[in-house]
Amino acid sequence: MKASKVTSNNPPIHVTARGAARLKAGHVWVYRSDIKEPKAKLEPGSLVSVLDDKGRLLGDALYSTTSQIAIRMFAGPREETLASDLAEIIGNRVAAAISYRDEIVQQNDACRLIFSEADFLPGLIVDRYNDILTMQVLTQAMDRPAIRDAVLGSLREHFPGASIYERVDERIRELEHLAPKASGLVGKPQKGNAKTATIFTINGLRFHYDVATGQKTGAFLDQRENYAVAAQYARGEALDVFTYQGGFALHLYQNCRRVSGVDISRPALEVAEENATLNGYNVEWIEANAFDYLKDQSTGGRMYDTIVLDPPAFAKTRKNFDAAIKGYKELNLRALKMLRSGGTLITCSCSFHVSEAEFLDMLASAAADAHRSVRVLEKRNASKDHPVLLGVPETNYLKCVIARVE
Ligand code: SAH
Repeated sequence: MKASKVTSNNPPIHVTARGAARLKAGHVWVYRSDIKEPKAKLEPGSLVSVLDDKGRLLGDALYSTTSQIAIRMFAGPREETLASDLAEIIGNRVAAAISYRDEIVQQNDACRLIFSEADFLPGLIVDRYNDILTMQVLTQAMDRPAIRDAVLGSLREHFPGASIYERVDERIRELEHLAPKASGLVGKPQKGNAKTATIFTINGLRFHYDVATGQKTGAFLDQRENYAVAAQYARGEALDVFTYQGGFALHLYQNCRRVSGVDISRPALEVAEENATLNGYNVEWIEANAFDYLKDQSTGGRMYDTIVLDPPAFAKTRKNFDAAIKGYKELNLRALKMLRSGGTLITCSCSFHVSEAEFLDMLASAAADAHRSVRVLEKRNASKDHPVLLGVPETNYLKCVIARVE
């Protein structure tokens, strides 16, 4: 590694003053509107050197010929990355991401192993579910054969018995102009046969995981630590709204007299029931639209001691902000009205476009309308295996507020 440098061997790309300011503030993306079209024709996913409007080197980046996010930084100006070393560096970063998980995730055999920018591997996500690893490739660079081989090689070295399954998002491949391909197993484990279904353990509870089930997502690993904390506060009669495959509901069960889980998706609830059986638990699963269900229950005067709200992201873009807040407020207002005095509300939002402050404002407004005093006990985020990279706010999306309601 060189101490500093002013030139680079990689093809140059110039960014506007606005693009440069964004990078200097710690972000790692530059949008296409903030780059000057490269003079030479660049290969999809190639390594480029990023220069500011005065020709100063800002670092090396991975380039996409089609994405609105034209470049994703890979290294700062002090460490020259040679194209010939790229695969090796990526293999090393995969190893570093795994060793970080070894330090911070104990007694759980499921977690996010690689979280894209937050692990310095922009465009790559890898989750572990016991002996199945799922991989998502989101950019041209990460799809290049040499880079895929480096990633897979490093994953296999660390998890020789694991099956690796690639989950393909067709829309992303289209946007990146990558040839269409189907989701599927990638190669074979070094030991044993490839598998697509398994059982994983988090916080001492067992869950089914099957890559082939309809749901696009696996389990919501980002809530792992929040599940355990929610269980500590839970008691009495509990309702888990937007339960999916029962993540919160099964954790609450340990300390509650009675637990119900609500979701609109029957396939999700079928897995939830299998998960309950696996742990010897008896949860009531309700297939319903959460808005209708909460309305019926609250107008019917039903009360609970613990309520979890973990809806899907209502604000997919900033344009949906007002509608999203309205949705969050309706849910939270109804839940607050249905909590007994001294009860606990565990309320989440995974909308990046709604900040923690905006979420708390919404909650305060719901509390005022519900005429309830609410004390915030914990303001939580995603588990440590989904680190937040400072300067890249997109890596900080999950809010989980635990509150006591009088
Ligand atoms: N709490 C879950 C994750 C929830 S993901 C966990 O920890 O695993 C969001 C869930 O909301 C999905 O399962 C989806 O089926 C469900 N959902 C979406 N819209 C809904 C609605 N209007 N009513 C009820 N459930 C809904």
